[in-house]
Amino acid sequence: MQDALSLADVLAARQRMEGAATLDTPLVSSPFLSKVAGSDVLLKLEITQATGAFKLRGAASAVALLPPETAGVTCCSTGNHGRGVAYAAARRGLRAVICMSTLVPRSKVDGIRDLGAEVRIAGKSQDEAQAESERLVREEGLTEIAPFDALPVIAGQGTIGLELMEQRPDLETVLIPLSGGGLAGGIGFALKRMKPSIRVVGITMERGAAMYAALETGRPVEVTEVESLADSLGGGIGTDNRYSFELCRECLDDVVLVSEEEIYRAMQAHYFEDRIVCEGASAVGAAALMAGKLGTVKGPVATIVTGRNVDMAVYTDIMNGRDIKLGDYLIKGSSYAA
Ligand SMILES: *Cc1c(COP(=O)(O)O)cnc(C)c1O
Repeated sequence: MQDALSLADVLAARQRMEGAATLDTPLVSSPFLSKVAGSDVLLKLEITQATGAFKLRGAASAVALLPPETAGVTCCSTGNHGRGVAYAAARRGLRAVICMSTLVPRSKVDGIRDLGAEVRIAGKSQDEAQAESERLVREEGLTEIAPFDALPVIAGQGTIGLELMEQRPDLETVLIPLSGGGLAGGIGFALKRMKPSIRVVGITMERGAAMYAALETGRPVEVTEVESLADSLGGGIGTDNRYSFELCRECLDDVVLVSEEEIYRAMQAHYFEDRIVCEGASAVGAAALMAGKLGTVKGPVATIVTGRNVDMAVYTDIMNGRDIKLGDYLIKGSSYAA
């Protein structure tokens, strides 16, 4: 793989991921969101991956490239990338050490241990967990699998773009939850190469959106991490970002921000209307549509339902319309009225 992404890299990633990640995940209609948007809205169900989130694609793509003599792998993760790396490594019989910060919810930590990986809790931010992972590379010879800023990972996430174009070549708008930008960069790249007229929109939360701040400033910047219902969208993009920032700058037509209250209502709507359990990060596309934040949307529209690894205590509170406390921020509860 060269130093820039090509469509051939995304196609090659799909081949080597065969059997290691679920390909051709379902793309299903949402009658409710279609009514809200005034045009067809389809949900790309990455919640059907074995680890419950799309990040298995990028991890499987990267792990498949490692030589047989690899000592093991490590990564720093807010959860879903760690699960993906743990699963992909176990499948190849490799040791995996997953580093994460104290902000990561308990359900995600347990989930990773259950996949057979070692978990190392290090520091209060993604950056501190990252430092521990780098130490393991230096001192124990492990190979780091980056969560978003590596071409094999981005190519793996980009396979979703290939599938979308095969499943619905008539798509006009694609909504992509945005954090480090591996997902949006990969999908956006593949889509724009295959259909330049398509509108690709990154969606993220108002509180602590690193890629949004970087795109506004024109370079990667540090943001303060805060708790969010979309916890999988937290974390920085790295001040030495090499690929995902440029890809997002090139391939995203817009970035839209949604509030915690909008994410809360969208999670309820996915449950009560679509009968889908998903985490906050997955509901940002629905949140943007429901809040009317996309202007006139040309359909058909697809939104990527990226993962379902949500803390079920918090989740049931939201479905029951209870208040949610995120650090010192309070989301006022409200029951869902269909
Ligand atoms: C990681 C993640 C995202 C964002 O992906 P990036 O490549 O970091 O932008 C969205 N949703 C879920 C569930 C995730 O785990």
